[in-house]
Amino acid sequence: MRIVLVGPPGAGKGTQAALLAKTLSIPHVSTGDLFRANISQGTELGRLAKSIMDTGKLVPDEVTIAMVKDRLRHDDSGNGFLLDGFPRNTAQAVALDEILAEFGIALDGVLDLEVPEDEVVRRIAGRRLCRNDSGHIFHVLYNPPAVEGVCDICGGELYQRSDDSEETVRTRLEVYHTETEPIIEYYAKQGLVTTISALGKVDEVTERAIAALRENAND
Ligand SMILES: [Zn+2]
Repeated sequence: MRIVLVGPPGAGKGTQAALLAKTLSIPHVSTGDLFRANISQGTELGRLAKSIMDTGKLVPDEVTIAMVKDRLRHDDSGNGFLLDGFPRNTAQAVALDEILAEFGIALDGVLDLEVPEDEVVRRIAGRRLCRNDSGHIFHVLYNPPAVEGVCDICGGELYQRSDDSEETVRTRLEVYHTETEPIIEYYAKQGLVTTISALGKVDEVTERAIAALRENAND
């Protein structure tokens, strides 16, 4: 199965991508991982991306697209793949269609994870991390520590990452609406989009996603 996963920040996209890829036995292709791999292996694209990132600029679409194309050539993508973080705008979606056409394949579905905006803000802005160990994670509503501001595991001080502030979350959502949401419409015209709610337990969302993808693929 060849799938694109989309959803706003805070939808649990990375977690679902990993679980779906495992369940469907296809590689999880995330742009974050692709960048890290290309940079650590010192590929031509990785060196180019790093030199741009070092100047504080955003990596242009062409570089990201070239990395994805290179990745989809690997043997393990023959059985399908799950794209996470790509395409993130309409230009990238058009480029992906061109790559797939060149390879003589097509997408089977686009899974859209839906979460109400206020819930996204609650999920992210409520996160608290331990200063001693970033793996000690709490949430003021969903997983509160016994004593406010204190880690249950080691007694460390809990804090909110600056990236998790409500203001930053609202800005990230705005970017998602403006840049990424138009690809949902782009794919809807191709009849590829399945929207599911990303609310509920992690494994429930995975089951919902698998059922939706299989149903859409059989249409
Ligand atoms: Zn701790």
